[in-house]
Amino acid sequence: MSLKTPYYLIDERRLLKNLKVIQYIKESSGIRSVLALKCFSAWSVFGLMKKYMDGTTSSSLYEARLGREKFGKEVHAYCVAYTKDEIREVSRFSDKVIFNSYSQLKSFYRLVQGCKIGLRLNSGISYSHYDLADPARRFSRLGEPGMAVIKDASNLISGVMFHFNCENSDFRNFSLNMDYISRKYSHLLKKLEWVSLGGGIYFTQKEYPIEKFCRILKNFSNRFNVQVYLEPGESVITQSAELVTSVVDIVRNRIDIAIVDASVEAHMLDLLIYRDSAKIEKSNNGKFKYMVAGRSCLAGDIFGTYYFKSKLKIGSIIKFTDTAGYTMVKKNWFNGLTMPSIAVKRLDGSIELTRRFGYKDFVSSMS
Ligand SMILES: *Cc1c(COP(=O)(O)O)cnc(C)c1O
Repeated sequence: MSLKTPYYLIDERRLLKNLKVIQYIKESSGIRSVLALKCFSAWSVFGLMKKYMDGTTSSSLYEARLGREKFGKEVHAYCVAYTKDEIREVSRFSDKVIFNSYSQLKSFYRLVQGCKIGLRLNSGISYSHYDLADPARRFSRLGEPGMAVIKDASNLISGVMFHFNCENSDFRNFSLNMDYISRKYSHLLKKLEWVSLGGGIYFTQKEYPIEKFCRILKNFSNRFNVQVYLEPGESVITQSAELVTSVVDIVRNRIDIAIVDASVEAHMLDLLIYRDSAKIEKSNNGKFKYMVAGRSCLAGDIFGTYYFKSKLKIGSIIKFTDTAGYTMVKKNWFNGLTMPSIAVKRLDGSIELTRRFGYKDFVSSMS
């Protein structure tokens, strides 16, 4: 079947590879894993994912609801700040409600009594390449930093959430950080039923020392007698989708520039935020050099500069790889550009177009 570009293509076989790693970690360490919906919420593949994961975690009321309705199993609700109006609804969809601050915990714990209650802690440590995404940055509002307050909070909660890793493929760093939080919070941890270690750990990367990782998780869980949770986003879906585009025009301004029927700003926004280039398959490596750019009016809407095996022409297909995480969840209607469809390559190899967006969706996103 040939689909009309642009489209994101999610490959279930690729996804399965990551899910099997998670399954192995679960079995050998006893942890539970919940998918971070803020990274990836393409629910047409949740049928596969829920066989290998224990549920979802959220950043808002709507994500919690999506987790309940489309994934099922356990729902962790977290939000940097809930409004009072939201909190009862949140509790209806969730198994756990994790507050970001002691002040929210105190204000709302009575309203979520059917749920397990947790507090996010700001341990003051982190692993991140970017200040913008660093939860331990100066004046960070993410999680409760005060030790005295945490002591007071401990009677109201059954668990805590830490989230201090971001794209962390450095196992040694992870290990040292686990020692650090074990020491710093040992009194609190002993009183709890569950501890979530958040996301950002790159355990699906090729060389990641899975056995050692499992041992640390298991030791931590045994030492404090807690159920450990991981909240992976990127590491679940890494390398499992591509953005398929077509060349619409080729222009020249000292170099050759291929303009495709998608946009960085609208369809792969994180590349701009983190000043990164899109990836394309290495097999494309050749001698024809092009800058590949998007068709929004933003001057810097550039996917990257690549060497192709053959000359590009209008209609040539360009596939950007590793486009599952923080892409579809951030796509927007900037410039009113055609939004990429979402398609899924199922385990049996068949391709299913699961969503097409049109003018109606554009209009209904505004009034
Ligand atoms: C973003 C986030 C995650 C997922 O992070 P990844 O880097 O995609 O694994 C998990 N938990 C919390 C609290 C987050 O903010």
